[in-house]
Amino acid sequence: MNENVQGRAMGTEVRKTGFVYLIGAGPGDPELLTLKAQRVLDIADVILYDDLVSSDLVAHFSAMKIYTGKRKNCHHFEQDAINQEILRHARDGKIVARLKGGDPFIFGRGGEEIEVMRQNGIDYEIIPGITAAHGASAYTEIPLTMRKISSSVAFCTGHPVSKLHVPNTDTIVYYMVASTVREVLDAVAKKGWSDTTPVAVVQNATRYNQNVLIGSLGEFRREEKPVYSPALLLIGENISYFIKENWYSKKKKVLLAGGDAAQFKTAEYVRVYFPCKQAEAVDPLVVARCMQNIEQWSVLFFSDEFAVKYFFKTLLESAHDVRHLSKTRICAGNTAVALALQQYGLKADLVLKVYDDVSIFDLLQAEGITRSDILMPMSTLVDDYLLNALEKAGNKVTALPLYSLDRPENEEPLDLDFIDEIYFSSVNCVRHFKTIYTVLPERILVKTADEKTQAEYLKSFF
Ligand code: SAH
Repeated sequence: MNENVQGRAMGTEVRKTGFVYLIGAGPGDPELLTLKAQRVLDIADVILYDDLVSSDLVAHFSAMKIYTGKRKNCHHFEQDAINQEILRHARDGKIVARLKGGDPFIFGRGGEEIEVMRQNGIDYEIIPGITAAHGASAYTEIPLTMRKISSSVAFCTGHPVSKLHVPNTDTIVYYMVASTVREVLDAVAKKGWSDTTPVAVVQNATRYNQNVLIGSLGEFRREEKPVYSPALLLIGENISYFIKENWYSKKKKVLLAGGDAAQFKTAEYVRVYFPCKQAEAVDPLVVARCMQNIEQWSVLFFSDEFAVKYFFKTLLESAHDVRHLSKTRICAGNTAVALALQQYGLKADLVLKVYDDVSIFDLLQAEGITRSDILMPMSTLVDDYLLNALEKAGNKVTALPLYSLDRPENEEPLDLDFIDEIYFSSVNCVRHFKTIYTVLPERILVKTADEKTQAEYLKSFF
């Protein structure tokens, strides 16, 4: 354990600069996290996580979570912005967990991120993760090497097509192939691989919605098979050992809408979680108090786009509209927030470009935002850093939590086609579930915790 962590664990404030852990989260199944990664995530102050990291996994930890991926409707962090974000939290003395899908050093840009730490004198450690190829191999029962059949394996990227390699190995695993399967297989065939070579595409490896497509090189080249990201392409004779009914495909997939998972034993089930806490996340009294006399705030500060969305929803619900903000100065945490504000017909008076203490302070001084009453709509996970920076400049900041990140907004809805059973633990869970999934496929077996929940389920879906 490094000194910084010890200092924090002992409750003493010995840290000046923070510490960064670059961590591999594995390919999807949350249980494929290493013990070391789990221990560090438990003590982290901030977790910056990628697209491929499931929110079920990060939900287990109390750190502030920052999603840096590229899901739709979401602020897209460029690599530079991610580096800056890591740096700013580390410089603020935080323990930063940079959590990446699979292993950080297999097509994970981990090398670039530690380069930034080195250049900036930030201490770090690296914790490896199970890469997608290993996850896919174990969860499809396709060994990557096999005596007499495959004595070498290569990991390659299928993107960009201009960088395709076809190495001289028995087995090849291509990453990042969702849109380039055809091009990759053409290149492999051109290199002399036979049309009969077995090929597998493994989508969503180790997740509840894992899907395997099997065929030969020739078949895959002739027929267009739709491939969804994230997917791996495996090529080699070892793939002929694939069996459709394997240990993972045989497990039933149960969706747990709230409640206790104990009755669904892991020997028989893969558990998929649907948290139902969102409805309780916001305190209506706090919201009413802040919105009642909306003109009292001289500054409104929006740190992210969801804050913008939920603020205007709440504004309308409290019988106000943008005209009530005519005397309020509007600040945006970044340019994406400023764009979101434009959709409501508002041009931000001030947009933060650089996210460090000194420049925020200077900017606020220059703009005269120093003794203001600031209202800051945000998620239930408070960004201490921004709050402190605004307060340091002499402002009084009131945090207004408007939405919960328990089930992130940017999350793709679950694919019910892969679900065998659903368990509803309460009436509220049924209601919450119904707001997202209006229809349930008939095939799914539904279980409920009690009679009231059963009645609500019947009322909602029939
Ligand atoms: N660092 C990651 C790879 C990141 S590159 C690792 O070690 O696994 C992103 C690519 O990884 C995706 O395009 C896909 O090819 C692959 N990938 C990641 N997770 C996957 C999963 N669960 N199933 C299939 N492919 C996956």
